[in-house]
This record gives sequence, C-alpha cells and structure tokens, in this order.
Amino acid sequence: MYEKWLVGVDLGGTTIKIAFINQNGEMIHKWEIPTNTREKGNHIPTDIAESIDQTLDELGQNKNKLIGIGIGAPGPVNLKNGSIDVAVNLGWENFHLKSLLEMETSLPVIVDNDANVAAIGEMWKGAGKGAKDLLCVTLGTGVGGGIIANGEIIHGVNGAGGEIGHITSIIEGGVHCNCGKTGCLETVASATGIVRLTIEELSSTRTPSKLREIYHEHQSLSSKLVFEAANEGDELANKVIDEVTLYLGLALANLANGLNPEKIVIGGGVSKAGDALLAPLKEHFTRFTFPRVAQGVELAIATLGNDAGVIGNSWLAKKKLINDHE
Ligand code: ZN
Repeated sequence: MYEKWLVGVDLGGTTIKIAFINQNGEMIHKWEIPTNTREKGNHIPTDIAESIDQTLDELGQNKNKLIGIGIGAPGPVNLKNGSIDVAVNLGWENFHLKSLLEMETSLPVIVDNDANVAAIGEMWKGAGKGAKDLLCVTLGTGVGGGIIANGEIIHGVNGAGGEIGHITSIIEGGVHCNCGKTGCLETVASATGIVRLTIEELSSTRTPSKLREIYHEHQSLSSKLVFEAANEGDELANKVIDEVTLYLGLALANLANGLNPEKIVIGGGVSKAGDALLAPLKEHFTRFTFPRVAQGVELAIATLGNDAGVIGNSWLAKKKLINDHE
C-alpha cells in the first residue's frame, strides 16, 4: 500500500524538532533546525517549510507523500484560528501560526499547546500507551501539563486547560511565579524549584550535607545533584525530595480525584531521577487519593523523552486530518 507520512513539529526556544512519522506512529526520519527568533520570530514558518522541502528532496520524496502538519507551540493556543497570543521566547505576539505555515507549505496545519501534545505522544506510543484517560506532567525548567479525558485533550473555555504547573501548592508566602501568581506547583516542583528549596534548606539549617560543600564551591546546584545525594542517603537532600513529592503528590491526587485517570505520566528532565522521584511520589499521592481512584491509576515515568512532542503532533494531524473526516 502507498504509505503517506505525517509531519510532527515541536517548537522550542533554541531548536525546532521536525519528524516524518507514518500513520502507525513509527518514526521515519527526524531532524532539528535552529530557532531563528530574529525579527520577532517572523522567519520561523519559512524556515520550517524550507527544511521540510529540503529533507523530502534528500529522501527522494515529494510533497504528495505528506498528509499534513501537527505543530506544538509554547503557551495557550487560540483554537479557532490556530494563532498564538504571546510566546515570549519566540518573539511572537498575536502570531497567526496556522495560516502562515499553511501558506508556506501548502499543507494543512493543526496547532496545539506543546505540553498538551507531549501528553498525546505518551498516550499514543509512550508510557500512557492505550490509556484514554491520562494526566501528563512535565517537570523541566518549569512545570507543564496535559490532561486527556476520553481520548480528547482538555483545552477548556479559552485554551488554558491542563495548566497543572499553576495549581497552587503554597497558599500563603509562596514565591512569585512567571504567571503572576505566587506559590504555584511550578515554583516548588520544577528543576528550578527543587534547587531553590535546597538552597533555602542549606541556608536555614546546619544539617550536614554533601550539597553544602558543592554549593560553597560552585555557587550553583542542579536537581540531578539533589536526587543523587538523596539516593546516597543524604538527609538534607531527602528532606527536600520529600517536600517536593509532597506538593506534587497532593496536586496530582486532587486532579486524579476529579478525573479518575488510568495513567499519570511524569516527564521532563527531572523525571530522569526515576525511582528516586517515583517512590516517594507514590506514597504521598496514595495518601491524598480517593481509594477507588487510587485503585484504577498507575503512575509511570515518561518513555518518549524528546520525541513525545513530534509524535503527539503527528497523532493530532492524523486525528484531525484523517479520522475526523472518515
Ligand atoms: Zn504560576
């Protein structure tokens, strides 16, 4: 049978990941181009279009091979016309991504929020495989989230659904968050948040810790170092991880109580800690979860890594451009 491909595009502040994926979700070819943020990011659609053409050429294919493009963008997306109100790290303001990219590529384009799309990727081919009710939380520099209920992304009334990172964890006296609130989950459970909590703990106690020497010497720490120390039995590091997983477990439990999901997938750089994160998280999560909800759910570390975005975007393109028309 003549096989057609989907194009998945994952837009980041420094690189744009692009992939050709077949309709079974198998990766055919993936590559990256640098994100050109000059002139308010106006070159981005042209760069993507040219790169797709060039890669088709290299593979000895032409555009008839492609069904359409799914693209994940940072920040809330206007689902009516596929435009982005603001994406600070790309330079975009009221940017008509869908229509511009369609014009440049002459292919149909589906736009969604990047964290939502990563959740879809995990649902299709990753740790959430087969689950139609799924929560996905990405612990990186910030905390992203995606909620899938009955196989559909929860967008909400104006595109801000799934913003798990901005669930309030610290009711009073929390630190300022990029969103304008204080005490968001992102301020305590992101890589940045974990480092901040560790430094606070180091300066407010005299608990001996290997992290104290490392911090004195380099004036910086990473969440990876904190998890490593915790694994080696470091008391201070374990206290911080216990606090982080308490906030994360509470937030996820409350979400789960409302949604009764089958899987909760934890992704992003911080999730590379594996069991050092998952074991204490499960304990706190179970404590706060309605028993019947707890019975039905499985917590797992994401398995697709950096490919979750392009795979999820391809699924969206497949769903919107093929399945919904059948
Ligand atoms: Zn926030």
